[in-house]
Amino acid sequence: MNTRVRVCVAAALLCSAIVFAQQQDFSKVEIKVHKVAGNIYMLEGSGGNIGVSVGDDGIAIVDDQYAPLADKIRAALKGITDKPLRFIINTHYHADHSGGNESFHREATLVAHDNVRKRIESGGVAGTGGSIRFESPPGPKGALPVVTFDRSLTLHMNGEDIRALHFPSGHTDGDSVVFFTKANVVHMGDDFVTYGFPFVDLLGGGSVKGIIAACESVVAQLRPDVKVIPGHGPISTLDDMRRFTTMLKETHAVVEKAVKAGKSFEQMKQEKILAPWQKWNGPFVSTDAFLETLYNELTGKRPIAALSHH
Ligand SMILES: [Zn+2]
Repeated sequence: MNTRVRVCVAAALLCSAIVFAQQQDFSKVEIKVHKVAGNIYMLEGSGGNIGVSVGDDGIAIVDDQYAPLADKIRAALKGITDKPLRFIINTHYHADHSGGNESFHREATLVAHDNVRKRIESGGVAGTGGSIRFESPPGPKGALPVVTFDRSLTLHMNGEDIRALHFPSGHTDGDSVVFFTKANVVHMGDDFVTYGFPFVDLLGGGSVKGIIAACESVVAQLRPDVKVIPGHGPISTLDDMRRFTTMLKETHAVVEKAVKAGKSFEQMKQEKILAPWQKWNGPFVSTDAFLETLYNELTGKRPIAALSHH
């Protein structure tokens, strides 16, 4: 079991990608390989989707799921190509996206935004400052990205630019969106997910506002026929991202208005002010949990977990 994932969640929340790491029997997980476009593939197992670029120069992957799945991921990559794995980009620090780092670090170079390294190194608490909360102990040295960047970084391989672009304060404070420019594919990390209302790691420096900004910026620079790899969920379209972004903007505006009107969280909950968006209610992030996220973000009622070195 992955010791980096210790989970403590309010009673009824079960079965998210992150949450069930602890209960999950990884031996039963099967890694499915989806062809996305051109030389880009997506691996679906447990945890965040893995984006894969294959070609003459080797393999680069985006995210590496949970530690116990590393051998299965290796086998799945072998099924696509015999070329070596050379680079891993982490979209953010959560263990369902970076848990494989330690297992892969001798064979591939780990790349991520500066804050991914800091947060894996320090460990800490992720969550909404309320009902959703995950603790992770400090990561071992081998799990730390060795190439880090502040704004963006480009891998020039397999005949294209694989560009990691940082967006501040989205799902976390270390998110990257990764563009496979020639294949016309983008990996959104957890700034875009399809499981309903998104989990936003307010304690890890994230914000709904930042996710909106990231999604709007990305949507504006993509071609209409782009293939979108979400952090979690099936391969998606630009329209899926637009619908998601619209929902975030509308719900953010409604809660902002209620906060300005002086309403308490309890009042908003009782008045069910997010009822028009009920279809986004999910097993991981319920409507109330998302209301709490927006409320905490907008009122600043969250102890922001400072990045600290130990
Ligand atoms: Zn995440």
